Amino acid sequence: MIRPIVFYPDPVLRKVGELVTDVTDEIRTLAEDMVETMYDAHGVGLAAPQVGESLQLAIVDVSHDPECISYLRVNGEEMTLEEICPLTFINPKLELIGSKATDTEGCLSFPDLRGDITRPFEVKATVETLEGETLVIETDGLFSRAIQHETDHLFGKLFIDRMSSARKMSIRRQLKEMQQNYG
Ligand code: ZN
Repeated sequence: MIRPIVFYPDPVLRKVGELVTDVTDEIRTLAEDMVETMYDAHGVGLAAPQVGESLQLAIVDVSHDPECISYLRVNGEEMTLEEICPLTFINPKLELIGSKATDTEGCLSFPDLRGDITRPFEVKATVETLEGETLVIETDGLFSRAIQHETDHLFGKLFIDRMSSARKMSIRRQLKEMQQNYG
């Protein structure tokens, strides 16, 4: 089932999501719905707060572009994006590695907004799956960026917080309009 996406400045987007300690049928259904909702919206990632659920649960799928990473290891083994995507993960812990890179990002909670965001290029993400496994995911490029963007959501952080002050100035009116259209 496709769920409605929550837009900025809905307060749920600013909450720290609760840890998922018990994978119930509701959580499984939520995760399935989030995958469907993300594909429907043509996104590469979606976090539970973006459908109004303040939980440490997110989805990423960047397998449309196999060239967007230079490596991917899962628990030390080489893997392809196709094998791991869509990745549904809970309770992530990130170790940010290497030099920073800047690239354009969008966010399904900000439908008309894009911006250059600088982030560490590589990530080592320790995440849990709905099946109770722990995965250590080491990667770079767009997969790393998307995991970082979605994990930010789980801690109430939004991509506008990471924009340069010049870019933030230039989108002030758009943000104000979103605030006025809300509620
Ligand atoms: Zn987002």
